[in-house]
Amino acid sequence: MKINVLTLFPEMFSAVTGSILGKAAEKGILELNFINIRDFSREKRDKADEYPFGGGPGMVMLADPIFNALESLGVEGKKILYMSPRGRILNEEKIKELAELNDELTILCGHYEGVDQRVLDYWNMEEVSIGDYVLTGGELPAMVLIDAVARLIPGVLAGEESAMEESIYSGLLEYPQYTKPRSYRGMDVPEVLLNGNHKLIHLWKFEQSLKLTKEVRPDLFEEFVKSCDDLSKDEQKVLEKIMK
Ligand code: SAM
Repeated sequence: MKINVLTLFPEMFSAVTGSILGKAAEKGILELNFINIRDFSREKRDKADEYPFGGGPGMVMLADPIFNALESLGVEGKKILYMSPRGRILNEEKIKELAELNDELTILCGHYEGVDQRVLDYWNMEEVSIGDYVLTGGELPAMVLIDAVARLIPGVLAGEESAMEESIYSGLLEYPQYTKPRSYRGMDVPEVLLNGNHKLIHLWKFEQSLKLTKEVRPDLFEEFVKSCDDLSKDEQKVLEKIMK
């Protein structure tokens, strides 16, 4: 999958090009292409913003450099996202849809007060928000989206990791995790995790996930209860206990 990112601050993305995403790029699974919008400005000093027509605070990103950058990529008709607090909130469903695209994806990061509306209209951009709050620029939201999408592309995660077993994707929040030492400042690792009985360990993890989800995300818990039709007898017993 190829992801183009149009931004005024390409250097910010060094934060995600290491780790998993860097490895995915090395393996050729993911190609990340960062485009500096300023390089496509035809204004003096590579200017990329102007005062808004009709007044109002702040600056608006110029249409021309963005049009030029998109034309240079040849992405007409392909999926283009604009990271924006006006967009639909990013969720599991959207991330899965994007990961399954199997095509080129382009992301525009806004800054200042946003971009000239004609960019969004002409290029038929889909506005995507990462939450009900406003950030200074679209770079952090784009990094959030890229990381979440990349984790679902086959081959990106190491073999032993499975994105589908994690919180949300599994339908439940993840159980608590522990590592060495067995006892730390008087706090002991639950005995069941040390006894090597895989069936008991599985049921303990399942019970913990259920408890946590019921408490923190009752909406997810309700959804899980409605759709879990393939539980073993033991799992069913655990679920009944938690539901009481
Ligand atoms: N004036 C805009 C508004 O009220 O909708 C907000 C502009 S914001 C200060 C600057 C840029 O940050 C936006 O163009 C967008 O790219 C990005 N941004 C801010 N909050 C965001 C969010 N919650 N999700 C996605 N992108 C966001």
